[in-house]
Amino acid sequence: MVPLAVLFVSVAAYFHFIALPRAIAETRQQFHMQVDSDVTAIARTLQPVASHANIAVLRETSGTFFDSKQSWREMVIRSANDDILVRHVRSQDTEKAIVMDVHKVDLVDPSSASSERNAGSIMVKADIGPSIAKINSSYRHFLLVLASALAFTLVLMATLLSSVVINPLRKVAAAADRLSKRDFRQPELAMTGDEVGDLARSVSHLSVALRQHEFDQRKSALTIAGLSYHDELTGLPNKGFLTDRLGTEIKYAGADDRSIALLFVDVDNFKSINDLAGHAVGDKCLREVAHRIVSTASGEKSLVCDIESMFDGLVDGRTFVARYSADVFAVLIAELEGVDLAAKVRAIQEFVQRPFVEAGREFDLSVSVGVSKFPDHGATSAELVKHADTALHAAKRDTMDHVRFFSDTLDSANFRRLSLESSLPRATENGEVVLHYQAKVDVRSGVISGVEALARWSHPLHGDVSPGEFIPISERQGSIIELGQWVVESACAQAIAWQRSGLPSIRMAVNLSPRQFSDSQLVDRIRRAVEVHDMDPSLLELELTEGALVDDPERAERTLTELKELGVYLSVDDFGTGYSSLSYLHRYPIDAVKIDRSFINTITEDENSRAIVSAIISMARSLNMTVVAEGVETPEQLKFLASAGCDDAQGFYLSRPIDPSDFEKSFEDTVNWTLSAVKEITENADVVYAS
Ligand code: C2E
Ligand code: MG
Ligand code: MG
Repeated sequence: MVPLAVLFVSVAAYFHFIALPRAIAETRQQFHMQVDSDVTAIARTLQPVASHANIAVLRETSGTFFDSKQSWREMVIRSANDDILVRHVRSQDTEKAIVMDVHKVDLVDPSSASSERNAGSIMVKADIGPSIAKINSSYRHFLLVLASALAFTLVLMATLLSSVVINPLRKVAAAADRLSKRDFRQPELAMTGDEVGDLARSVSHLSVALRQHEFDQRKSALTIAGLSYHDELTGLPNKGFLTDRLGTEIKYAGADDRSIALLFVDVDNFKSINDLAGHAVGDKCLREVAHRIVSTASGEKSLVCDIESMFDGLVDGRTFVARYSADVFAVLIAELEGVDLAAKVRAIQEFVQRPFVEAGREFDLSVSVGVSKFPDHGATSAELVKHADTALHAAKRDTMDHVRFFSDTLDSANFRRLSLESSLPRATENGEVVLHYQAKVDVRSGVISGVEALARWSHPLHGDVSPGEFIPISERQGSIIELGQWVVESACAQAIAWQRSGLPSIRMAVNLSPRQFSDSQLVDRIRRAVEVHDMDPSLLELELTEGALVDDPERAERTLTELKELGVYLSVDDFGTGYSSLSYLHRYPIDAVKIDRSFINTITEDENSRAIVSAIISMARSLNMTVVAEGVETPEQLKFLASAGCDDAQGFYLSRPIDPSDFEKSFEDTVNWTLSAVKEITENADVVYAS
């Protein structure tokens, strides 16, 4: 740029000091030559009329006025007797107008008859001004064009220079500076084909090498510390490696203002593959899943992935895969810019979910995915892991699509779940769990035929927690065995206490969860409870779920037979919601089925429900089983059940679940109420629904 400016100044100086004065001088000279010739022409014109006139031209011999040697300063035209006829002295002014003074010109043509004297002036109009102004204006114009061209060239060159050289160089310098501060994140540099591009390439390679070196160092440190860095089964990095890498990526992303995502991919029901096909097949399945995740995480739906990718967990520059725990894989996406995360998650899920074929057997694979993001869902690797895990659990519960992104709502739900999980094992010994009792009524007579014990948990922090929420938690964590045993023992104790207080002996029902039912010591536990409380076993009813009965039919049959031998009463709860088949019931010693309240709810308005309830009643009767309708809330429902031949009914219309002291106090009232309620419907038997 400097040479350009120098060139411009030189050209301007040349024109200003040399070319322009020269042009002006030449113009002047031409002008004066023209004036000379004009004046001379005039003089010559005068000469013949001025008798004997002679013209003397005093030429300039030296001086600065005119450059031309031929130019003159003064012109005098004399008469023969030396009178000055015409005199013209050239001066600066003559450049504007040449005035010739005609002093005494004998204008009498000697050949003419008349003569006349005259005096005056002859003016020759001449002005050099416009010519000089024209030169000056061209000169200024030229200078303007030159300056504009220079300015344009300078701006163009500066722009080019900064975009092609200066900015890329600055970026390279900044990247090199970061490297010197041990910040090894991959710089985003333009790899052009010129020298700057070469430099950028070198710095980029250097950052990759240094970053790898950093991880290698960590690897060796972990190896030296005796910690394994890889998962032996899949060859992928393990949880330790993931946590380490996650911490580093968070550090870089934080400094860079970038977002990253952590995906937990869990193989649904992996345990059943292990159980059904054995551990060797289970292991192969996990290897296959690892392989599929590595193959698709980069967006390439191919089954080809190289060993090195598996070993380093690096799928591409920004995606890292690890095996987090038994059947949970982690995918860390370290750069979300330009990534459609939802689409990517979906792609991984879809690709992994293809059937897994091993030794001629085909297993349907499905995966749940939980996602957390930095910085939205956590600032540390521990928080991101925790929240991805929370999202994963929510995804597993989600029956729709098995994919969940973390959210604060999930967190509070998770907090509640964790809080309930941690306090549940001690809830009974803390006296937080109590039993409420709900009567079952004979639909024909209105007599109370039994009572069901229903657990209630009053949590110190969360208040009343419904059994629908805490029983499944207790099931999952296994504390249901102790809790269930406490329920059985407490219900037996209550039944005996009521008998002793003079209440009629009514059957006491308790609910058994599937896990309790599959407990190998169940029969012993029930026997012990009955013996300890000296209870007539036929007055103890166990309500089982359909699922518990069909899971392992042989085993269920054995357990039910042993329980029946003990003398307890057995019923199937919530009938119709699970496997909806009475056919499997005939092989078991079942005494009663309880029709789920979802059918009873709709019997007055839905013909299908009425048909289902009627069918269950008639089939159960043919199998010699008692039928109980759950959730009876209106007299119309009760009327329909009576007309359809249902044996017993239970529901808010007849009696709500109430605490034991209320039950005892209001027993008489309840008896009277149920009797009158049933009497009312039998007397108004005209309202009968077609079955
Ligand atoms: P379940 O055994 O089918 O118990 C009946 C449920 O229906 C009870 O809910 C009861 O309060 C409710 N219910 C009774 N009549 C009506 C009615 O007319 N309308 C409506 N809308 N609901 C009615 P609860 O007490 O919330 O218990 C829910 C479930 O939790 C029980 O269903 C049972 O499966 C389980 N559960 C309760 N206590 C225990 C327990 O001690 N052990 C086990 N394993 N499960 C229990
Ligand atoms: Mg029940
Ligand atoms: Mg039920």
